[in-house]
This record gives sequence, structure tokens and C-alpha cells, in this order.
Amino acid sequence: MSRQTDTFEFISGIRDSRQVLHQNYLYNKHSGIQYRCQKCPSVLSVNETMMYVTKAPTAHIGHEPLADCRVAVMKAIKRMKERAFTDTTVSIKEIYEHALKSLTDAKFKIADINAPLIGGLLPFSRFRGTLASIRQSVVPPLPETLDDIDFEQETYQKYSLTNEGELFLRYDNKNRTKRILIFMSQCAIDWLILI
Ligand SMILES: [Zn+2]
Repeated sequence: MSRQTDTFEFISGIRDSRQVLHQNYLYNKHSGIQYRCQKCPSVLSVNETMMYVTKAPTAHIGHEPLADCRVAVMKAIKRMKERAFTDTTVSIKEIYEHALKSLTDAKFKIADINAPLIGGLLPFSRFRGTLASIRQSVVPPLPETLDDIDFEQETYQKYSLTNEGELFLRYDNKNRTKRILIFMSQCAIDWLILI
């Protein structure tokens, strides 16, 4: 295997490089580009842009690699955090249920998915707070009045555009008592012209 194809995976969450997973072994950040096995002195070295392994770890001493189910649960937890951040059209409950389903679809048993050794993926309440705070970091708080919605402010600016970055907010009279907002994508306008 060439070095550049020997890859690893950050496992802690969004923009978090503290822990990596490599061939079912878990490593904690040791220094700069070195990661140390969570359970023994084995060290994994990665390149400076943290893309691939530059030096394979030495033999692990006194412990086995993590079970496939535990690795799958860790990856599922990471994916949930990423989706809470990137996929704001889906509720955090649905994200959680999807993660759990992906594990049961992969034929892992509920008892294994939730074994204390694994850290468990049940119940939802265990993740609600974490996922909700991730979601809140990308979605503004619900406005209490129409005045709170100012599309020139960064918080709401993105709602004036489509997910593709095209103009979506077409009209805003900014009237404090009779606010009129018109949203329409270019695609919808093109359809109207065709009708
Ligand atoms: Zn080890």
C-alpha cells in the first residue's frame, strides 16, 4: 500500500482534529502531526495537511482493535454532528433516527449498538443537546417580531438567497406594521413565464 492511500478519519466531529481512527484503532492527538493510541504507546504520523498517513503505527501492545460495531457507532455519531451542521432541512430527531437506522440496516444488533463499552447510541435525549447546539450555530433563533428579521444583517442574509446562492428575496417593503416579503427563485420565475 502506498503511503498516500493509507488514510485515516477524524472522528470527533466538525472541524475537530483531536481524535483519529485508523484501521479500527483510535488515536488521540499527541503533538502536531502525531497521534498516539488511546490504549498503548503506538504512534501514528500523518502529513502536514493531515490528509494521509506518513508513518504506519508500530504494533499495538496489550489490546485488540475496536470491534466493527463500535467503529460504526463512532462514525454514525460523527455523521449526525455533521448533518446537524450542514443539512438544516432535516430535524435533529430525524438525523438521529437515520443514524440509528443506518446501523440496524448494517445488521448491527441494538444490544451491540448500545452496549456500555461502545458508549451507546440510545436514547435520543443523550444527543439532543449536542445536536441542538450545533444546529443553533447555523440557524438563527426564531424571530419574536417581524422587525427582528433584517436581511441586511449577517444572521438573516443567507435567507435572501437560495441554497445555490441565487437571489431568493425579491421584495421587502420593510414596513413595520404591514411587512410584505416576496421570495421567488429564478427557476420559479422561469416556470411562470412558461405557463
Ligand atoms: Zn494501541
